[in-house]
Amino acid sequence: MKDFLLDDTDRTFRAEVKDVLQRELAPRMADIEERQDWQAIRQVVRALGEAGYLRLMFPDLYRGPLAKPGLTHATILSEEAAYLNYAFETTIATALSCAYPLYHFANPQVRDQYLLPILDGTAIGAICVTESNVGSDSAGMETRIDFDEKTNEWVINGFKRYISNASVADVYIVYGLTTHTGKPQAGMTAIAVPKTAPGIHFPRNYSFMGRRGCIVGEVEFKDCRVPADHLLGERDGGFRIMLGMFNFERAILGGSGLGVARSAFDIATEHAQRRMAFGQHLGCKQLVWDKIAQMSWRIDSAELMTYRATRMYDAGIDGKALMKEASMAKLVATETANFCANETVQILGGDGLTKEYGRAEQIYRDARALTIVGGTSEMAKYLIACRDLPHIRIGL
Ligand SMILES: Cc1cc2nc3c(=O)[nH]c(=O)nc-3n(C[C@H](O)[C@H](O)[C@H](O)COP(=O)(O)OP(=O)(O)OC[C@H]3O[C@@H](n4cnc5c(N)ncnc54)[C@H](O)[C@@H]3O)c2cc1C
Repeated sequence: MKDFLLDDTDRTFRAEVKDVLQRELAPRMADIEERQDWQAIRQVVRALGEAGYLRLMFPDLYRGPLAKPGLTHATILSEEAAYLNYAFETTIATALSCAYPLYHFANPQVRDQYLLPILDGTAIGAICVTESNVGSDSAGMETRIDFDEKTNEWVINGFKRYISNASVADVYIVYGLTTHTGKPQAGMTAIAVPKTAPGIHFPRNYSFMGRRGCIVGEVEFKDCRVPADHLLGERDGGFRIMLGMFNFERAILGGSGLGVARSAFDIATEHAQRRMAFGQHLGCKQLVWDKIAQMSWRIDSAELMTYRATRMYDAGIDGKALMKEASMAKLVATETANFCANETVQILGGDGLTKEYGRAEQIYRDARALTIVGGTSEMAKYLIACRDLPHIRIGL
């Protein structure tokens, strides 16, 4: 790792974060993976909140030593957390994605009520976009949000699936349609919904091949009612909020991919230097060092792409101007994580397939989600090509 785009302050911050995660997360990693111990994740979220690490994205609320905290530091946190345990990292990344629209678009009272507990690590957030008939094509959602003039409340009806932190969150950012004619992008609205709202249900949680320990499930809204002031931004302005959130989420996912990739790489290089075969260390074999070299340059590329995107964001570049770079960070880092996880299992041979000899098989299962969550690799390529071919309507 060269951390070429980081400075001494960032490196000091990284060292400090590593220490905290070694103390708080490392001792709980086995419980999270083997017992799917949500409470262990919960305790680490609380510890990071208490230490102020969940406030990095919001400089005016931050109280720590950094002069200019921002997305770069939040991504360093994600990278180091994902290095140890991706399931844990998804929980804080999702909470931050929930915090983002609350910070920027909630009215002051609602913001204080829901945002501050998330930042303190005492509450968990969730984002509700995906539905049974809508994943990549998020604008085509079917959830309805109507306004009841008599009671001055929003009324939500819809079904969301694959929601991280589903049944364990305290507040949900819910996207749905308020206007049903014209383009759905122009009729989408975002609402903050507390878990205590009448009409919110959690039909079930899913069982996934990886990311064991974190909760992902369904959230259903049946005449779910929330007060008028829980609107985020403006009515019909939800799509813009969602796009802003996606940029930030993609950059953070760059950090997640990078952390997972580095974790696999360290296992592979240690094994290649220790294991003997045909009278030499494995790493001396050209077919093995080729794999190591490929992992190495891909990790460096992922790091450069990721911290370029975070640096741009921290310099005030966002919206359409950041979409390509944020998508590249997400694409390259998450594909790199899958590449490294796969090659690490191969380099370890039988040891890579069993839980007996370390985390290679866990990392292989965990990495697989990365090219799907937060927008698939195919969608990331679409967003990149949109900027490169501005005069051509690519169409999905
Ligand atoms: C573990 C996990 C956690 C998640 N957490 C959340 C969450 O917290 N909140 C939330 O709202 N969602 C969440 N999701 C949902 C996630 O964002 C979606 O799964 C993802 O966006 C893809 O949608 P989909 O699964 O419906 O696949 P689809 O959109 O049905 O796509 C299926 C395949 O077709 C490809 N495809 C689709 N359209 C095109 C096209 N035009 N051209 C080429 N290829 C195309 C896709 O790339 C993909 O490979 C989560 C998912 C998982 C697995």
